[in-house]
Amino acid sequence: MSRPRVVVAGLGDSGLLTAIQLARTAVDVVGISSKPGLVSGQELGLRLARPEAWARDYRIAFDRFRRLDRVEIVHGELTGLDREARSVAVGEQTIRYDVLVLATGVSNGFWRRPGFQTEADVSAAVEQAHARLAAAEAVLVVGGGAAAVSTALQAATRWSGTTVRLAFPGERALPRHHPRVWDVVRRRLAAAGVELLAGHRADVPDGFAADEITGGPVAWTTGQPQTPADAVVWAIGRVRPNTAWLPADLLDEAGFVRVEPTLRVAGTPDVFAIGDVAATDALRSSARNRADRLLAANIGAHLAGRRLREFAPPRRRWGSVLGPEADGLRVFAPSGHPFRFPAWSVRRVLQPWVVRRGIYGGVRTP
Ligand SMILES: Cc1cc2nc3c(=O)[nH]c(=O)nc-3n(C[C@H](O)[C@H](O)[C@H](O)COP(=O)(O)OP(=O)(O)OC[C@H]3O[C@@H](n4cnc5c(N)ncnc54)[C@H](O)[C@@H]3O)c2cc1C
Repeated sequence: MSRPRVVVAGLGDSGLLTAIQLARTAVDVVGISSKPGLVSGQELGLRLARPEAWARDYRIAFDRFRRLDRVEIVHGELTGLDREARSVAVGEQTIRYDVLVLATGVSNGFWRRPGFQTEADVSAAVEQAHARLAAAEAVLVVGGGAAAVSTALQAATRWSGTTVRLAFPGERALPRHHPRVWDVVRRRLAAAGVELLAGHRADVPDGFAADEITGGPVAWTTGQPQTPADAVVWAIGRVRPNTAWLPADLLDEAGFVRVEPTLRVAGTPDVFAIGDVAATDALRSSARNRADRLLAANIGAHLAGRRLREFAPPRRRWGSVLGPEADGLRVFAPSGHPFRFPAWSVRRVLQPWVVRRGIYGGVRTP
């Protein structure tokens, strides 16, 4: 008897982990990705300021993951879903599934785009953005989330002669984190020389999708004079779910995939969703909360006719905000308390043992 086939649509942070978990179970796994490997959307600041250091941990070719050896990878862009035929379209190709996992994530700024890319395309995009910031005398980062904050800090510590400003609309940035996180982050930004422009809401030109690094100046709807800049990084949280290829009845009003707490798509027993595309909770936090293990177990339960378990998200954002610093990596708990992994332990313990061995189950050196 042939084994059930599970197709994972999108192999970013959460699709990749789901495929890795599924590969250990009695199913055949096919992963479909528009990228040639993992190109994580995490740690934007590090990616812009130190692209080689970022690539070491966040850009990893699929054939380096040992647990993907049993997974068939299709490098292409999904264009359609036929639920009756239980198949997805990847250009001209039709791929049949018994269970489908939707993990196509969201588009955000210039650094998370869903389109097809080769290794050379990814390298060129990363290098171009880095060069743009490296050449700037004044960098303006617009936005108040983790991507904006990490960009400001990493740019200021990488290029000490560059003026770096961070503009955000509220009194404080990181409104979705515990207030304690901002207390720590504000001090780190000040120590790095970042100029904070609180209460600045950018006047975003009509039709501008905020998906490229632009030149200045930037005007404010909050009344302040324009701010000049050689490079403006727009990290204003305009996320768009990558769901244009899916039937509208699977989606909520904002275009995210409607899921039950079990991560099953409402009313569609053989389709599941995970990661930023899945409307699990207000913060859509199933990626960082490692729901991939639950999802793989639920797919097994679905195939065996057993009951599914539910995902229980925390109410506040947690995790790394600033990215790796000279003294290590700060990870904030949902309570806002930071835990700092010293720099030596990030290189010698956290990345090789916790992430590569523990989370990914083994990554070959390039
Ligand atoms: C272990 C882990 C730790 C984390 N830690 C933190 C943290 O400390 N701080 C923090 O802020 N966040 C953290 N996150 C969360 C992170 O910010 C995002 O939530 C996560 O990157 C989202 O993953 P995703 O798979 O949903 O999306 P993505 O990683 O964007 O993956 C989606 C993939 O699908 C592809 N795709 C899109 N459309 C198509 C198509 N039509 N055809 C083919 N492919 C397509 C995209 O190109 C992309 O490769 C963490 C996540 C994980 C897994």
